[in-house]
Amino acid sequence: MRIARVQPPDADRPALVRLEGETAVVLAHESDHVAADVLQEALHAGVDLNGSGLGSLTAQQLRFLTPVRRPGRILCAALNYGAHAAETGRAAPAEPMLFAKFSGSLVDPDGYIEVADSGLGELDYEGELAVVIGKQCRRVTHEAALSHVLGYTIANDVSARTQQRNDGQWWRAKGSDGFAPLGPVIVTSDELGDASGLTLITTVNSEQRQEGSTSDLIFSVPELLVHVSRFITLEPGDVLLTGTPPGVGVAMNPPSFLRDGDQVEVTIDRIGTLRSTVRLRHG
Ligand code: MG
Repeated sequence: MRIARVQPPDADRPALVRLEGETAVVLAHESDHVAADVLQEALHAGVDLNGSGLGSLTAQQLRFLTPVRRPGRILCAALNYGAHAAETGRAAPAEPMLFAKFSGSLVDPDGYIEVADSGLGELDYEGELAVVIGKQCRRVTHEAALSHVLGYTIANDVSARTQQRNDGQWWRAKGSDGFAPLGPVIVTSDELGDASGLTLITTVNSEQRQEGSTSDLIFSVPELLVHVSRFITLEPGDVLLTGTPPGVGVAMNPPSFLRDGDQVEVTIDRIGTLRSTVRLRHG
């Protein structure tokens, strides 16, 4: 099943939909509460994602938004593909290496990675498989881990390499506004299982930069969930980025960083393509 958070053309609020070819079945409308997130609300309320819904829309007329608007947590695995660890000159970690982004970093599909040109240096992409949590996940076992997963989507773990190298913490190198494009759809885990064996490709202005298989994750999705949930209770709508395969700009010879107007596309087969454009803000 493919579900998405969308802005219908004639509605004032986003909706959660199930995509069926050219049709989008409306599952829930976002409430007007300031902190509302239609995906989180639907998961907490137990809305039947397979249900007949509240009506239907034409899929082509919809603007796709990040599948979740205000995840309580965005956890990210670093160095989780051996070939990426090698290209950065780092050893593969012995246990999952994690950091966090903020919900304010999220960018809608076809949106802008907007950065002040005087602020962050050496802007780079990292195409990643993202896990969306469906059920509260606390001290989960390996066997039970996947039953807590709603599904999978696509992320770009945008990174400012200068600050990543120089700062003790990665709050701005990885967590600045605009540094977490996410979407456009969630493919549910009943369709994708543990999401292994999927090819991930990242292009910049149509030139291929990254290619990898989610089978090459050092720590699998269940292993990451076991580790994270020992320390942090994951809630419905939380997001876990699983790491990036080789081919990042900082590891090219010579290094190649993102520039104003660059279009970055991350494609994962059986999920889709996440497209973003870099926009430098002067000042
Ligand atoms: Mg990353």
